[in-house]
Amino acid sequence: MSETCVFCKIVEGKIPSTRVMETETVLAFMDIGPIVKGHVLVIPKSHVESLGELPEALLADVMLAVQQIARSQVAGLAADGVNIHQANGAAAGQVVPHLHFHVIPRFNTDGHRWNWKSQSYANASEAEALAARLRSV
Ligand code: ZN
Repeated sequence: MSETCVFCKIVEGKIPSTRVMETETVLAFMDIGPIVKGHVLVIPKSHVESLGELPEALLADVMLAVQQIARSQVAGLAADGVNIHQANGAAAGQVVPHLHFHVIPRFNTDGHRWNWKSQSYANASEAEALAARLRSV
């Protein structure tokens, strides 16, 4: 646990939250600023900052909870779809430095649009060079 982490305080009950599901290792609770109402955050209870730092032993626990919440949004809220969003680092938009998955119910009429701007590679070799760097580690 981190003394200053807001999500650790939620796990400990020092900050109130609306809990959706809880296991020995994972907590899911309502996001207080939902992109779409019904938006849930899924976190490991232990303080881990990013996906890369999550112990492999906890990965299945976290992802099973993400899947369960997504299914609940479809079955319980009649969502037409679900988005999963997860940010690592400030450059990616991570605000709370405790690993969290946003599980967001989507409805045909919710009006939310991602600001997704696709880029293009200059040529195939540029993509291949980046792929080679990814494979090298
Ligand atoms: Zn934390």
